[in-house]
Amino acid sequence: MPTVRLIYASRFSRGVGPNDIPDILAVSREKNAAAGVTGILCYDPRYFLQVLEGPRKVVNALYNQIANDERHADVTLIEYSDINERLFANWTMAFVRVDDLGNPFMLKHSSNGVFDPFAMSGEQALDFVCTVRELRPQGLDERA
Ligand code: FAD
Repeated sequence: MPTVRLIYASRFSRGVGPNDIPDILAVSREKNAAAGVTGILCYDPRYFLQVLEGPRKVVNALYNQIANDERHADVTLIEYSDINERLFANWTMAFVRVDDLGNPFMLKHSSNGVFDPFAMSGEQALDFVCTVRELRPQGLDERA
């Protein structure tokens, strides 16, 4: 079965915040490990940007499940492609707080230094997560 990469953006639902992240990551990592899914969850006080990599059928089903999760809203598909190599093969779900990346990093990836995944093209989102991975090859957190 082909391996695919899917990138989506979403907004936190009202009443959901940083305290919910550890739970989301714990369940994700356990289920992803069993399902052969890898990726990264980028978190900002308003938005999520997530990469899911794995077998096409598994990733498609997971995306539908995640899109129905009421802890976030406006789930928007940004990029989807067949891949030969995973970007995040070593992480069941890497995690990064966008705030920790610093202003110069964000200025490189947006016109005003503000993280807004809804304003990103598929190419820009891919460039963003590739740069995150390169910047922090050992530092991508497996914890919230
Ligand atoms: P159940 O515990 O039976 O959950 C049923 C449904 O209830 C879930 O689908 C969800 O919509 C909702 N739900 C679950 N827990 C809560 C809660 N604490 N508060 C409110 N609603 C809740 N799952 C993965 O397996 N892999 C991922 O990479 C992944 N990434 C995610 C990223 C984000 C931003 C979010 C919000 C969720 C993510 N999830 C991920 C979680 C996913 O949406 C499901 O909750 C999870 O897979 C468990 O589903 P379930 O039907 O087995 O669990």
